[in-house]
Amino acid sequence: MNADNTTLDRAEATVAATLDHPDRSQVLADLRRRVAGTVHTPGDPDWDVARMPWNVVVDQQPLAVVDVRDEGDVRAAVRWAVDLGFQVTAQPTGHGAVHGLGGDVLLLRTGALQDIVVDEQRRTATVGAGVKAGALLAALDGTGLTFLAGSSSDPTVVGMTLTGGISWFGRAYGIGSDSIVSVELVDGLGRHRTLSAASHGPDADLFWAVRGGGGDFGVVTRMEVALHPAPHVWGGRLLWPLERLPELLRVFARSTAEAPETLSTWLHAYQFPPLPEVPEPFRGRSFASVAVAFLGEAEEGERLLAPYRVVPDLAMDLTGDVPLAELDGIAAEPTDPTPGMEWSQLLSRLDEDTMDAFVRAVGAGSGSPLPVVQVRHLGGAFTRTPDGGGAHGPVREPYNLFLLGIPAVPELVPVIEACFERTGAAVADAASGRTLLNFGGAHARSTWWSDADRERLVRAKGESDPLGTLRSNRPVEATTAP
Ligand SMILES: Cc1cc2nc3c(=O)[nH]c(=O)nc-3n(C[C@H](O)[C@H](O)[C@H](O)COP(=O)(O)OP(=O)(O)OC[C@H]3O[C@@H](n4cnc5c(N)ncnc54)[C@H](O)[C@@H]3O)c2cc1C
Repeated sequence: MNADNTTLDRAEATVAATLDHPDRSQVLADLRRRVAGTVHTPGDPDWDVARMPWNVVVDQQPLAVVDVRDEGDVRAAVRWAVDLGFQVTAQPTGHGAVHGLGGDVLLLRTGALQDIVVDEQRRTATVGAGVKAGALLAALDGTGLTFLAGSSSDPTVVGMTLTGGISWFGRAYGIGSDSIVSVELVDGLGRHRTLSAASHGPDADLFWAVRGGGGDFGVVTRMEVALHPAPHVWGGRLLWPLERLPELLRVFARSTAEAPETLSTWLHAYQFPPLPEVPEPFRGRSFASVAVAFLGEAEEGERLLAPYRVVPDLAMDLTGDVPLAELDGIAAEPTDPTPGMEWSQLLSRLDEDTMDAFVRAVGAGSGSPLPVVQVRHLGGAFTRTPDGGGAHGPVREPYNLFLLGIPAVPELVPVIEACFERTGAAVADAASGRTLLNFGGAHARSTWWSDADRERLVRAKGESDPLGTLRSNRPVEATTAP
């Protein structure tokens, strides 16, 4: 499926001509004629709402925003961009928004693509590109099956899974992108393509690329994901005063080394701001905490958590049975748009020196301004890739460190950046140098792929999007090691 040279030449000529075009209102009027969904443009009364991503720190100023109505709108929008030499990006929520999206990019909101089809026999769910994780979990509640959901109900299934997907259940069932069964997308020339393990030739390469490579290869309109057994989920959070972080960290390091793959444990250092949006009893308080999700019964879950119970001064026990539809209650992350600065690194170990340095950087009395510091235990099935798996590949590092800063006022930006730097230096000896794409934030280092896989991704991009019309938040071209 290669674009013919005539198409390429014509598009290159229009890129040059259109980007200098003084009157964008004409091209935007043409866009309105071509799509059925609502088109928002600069100057509209709702422009600031339409262009705003979930992470409100990112001040993006796209060319226009289209609320696509259906797959036909996606094709029409991509063809419009090809004809006029603009770029297109899908951004259903803006959870993963990055800086730098400018006035040559058309932003597509896929919220109208809401179909969910659960096939309990085949153990798959097919979702439209606007379906959020919470909606699929709600549809699965009571089926005894789950998809590879993460901590929040708010990201879309498609957006979270295209660049990996670190799920509560990933230790048992692997990285989310390897659970993709089939994908329907509109490629960079506006062509509809259906991809699966049965695909051949360029489609087979494209199917490999979209399973971990992100949104650079096509605008996905529908995705089918494998479902996995989750007959019963038990979990929640235990919280201690932040001063208990050193002991808790040691228990976490020991327990995670022996945990079964059905148990996921994440350690947190929380400093909740004294703001009205933060509910009591968390408001204005600091905690060290473990959050768990266990695929099994309460009794066994309790037994596995016993080592944590010896840490003195337990302040809150929020564990219990977890209906799938309430999975996001475990980590209780905000769902409303929030300003966030993120930093993340995979850690190869948690040794004594690293734990001491970590506590000095973000523990009680450290002066850290970060409301959330999280260490996710990975391992288990994250370390394995199935035969014929996608581009993401295994995650062999046992822990992911994630730091979140909330720059409520601009003066906090350098303070948060300094804390990221300090904490990064503190754990440097244990850090692998790799950053998960879903947790990269502005500091993503695209050291993820081997040179061979990167070349394969670039080839797949060249075939599906020869004019470079599609642009994801993690562009394939930017993935060369720094
Ligand atoms: C509170 C919170 C909790 C999170 N928890 C987890 C977690 O537990 N595990 C985890 O793995 N990640 C987690 N994430 C990260 C999240 O999964 C990623 O940011 C993900 O990319 C969000 O997808 P989205 O579609 O909602 O976001 P968007 O910002 O709208 O999209 C992100 C990118 O995905 C691509 N994309 C989205 N839809 C399409 C489409 N239809 N076609 C082509 N490309 C598309 C685009 O490149 C887009 O730039 C979390 C993020 C937040 C803010």
